[in-house]
Amino acid sequence: MEENTISAEKACSFCKEVMESPESIFCNHCGHPENGTDQQRAQYFAKRAIQKNKNIDAKSKIKSARNTLFILAGVIAIFGFVGYNSHGQVLILGIDLFLSIIYLTLGFWSEKKPMMALLMGLLLYITTFSILALVEPMTLVRGIIWKILIISYLGKGLYSASSIKNQVN
Ligand SMILES: [Zn+2]
Repeated sequence: MEENTISAEKACSFCKEVMESPESIFCNHCGHPENGTDQQRAQYFAKRAIQKNKNIDAKSKIKSARNTLFILAGVIAIFGFVGYNSHGQVLILGIDLFLSIIYLTLGFWSEKKPMMALLMGLLLYITTFSILALVEPMTLVRGIIWKILIISYLGKGLYSASSIKNQVN
């Protein structure tokens, strides 16, 4: 009886883990069709390759979104200082520096928690320019292309971060 179970033990040829049931088609660790057909094996490797490409793509989108946060932090700080120099707007400089620090923090935080950081960055961006638009409606159309670009970069990064997260779960 004992000998039987030992001889029946089989390791997956792909991940080298011992399979729970040696007769089952798919490895319970990596999903490799150990006892499957050549076609199943080909499909398995094709799927893996596609998934890998998707992950590389998702990571580059998250990186673009992170850079967007850093650029926002820099641009807002510069605008604050320019406004302060030309009009002496201390309050606006203070608000701009505060926002700049938040974007900078979110940028660094997005290394660890990309989904949360990018979501907060996007919400903060939309909130601040909505408030600005209420105070001064002309700001809504000013630099509209930049606004669309920023939102799309942050949005794509957020979507990619959520797709990677779902995959892990
Ligand atoms: Zn395996």
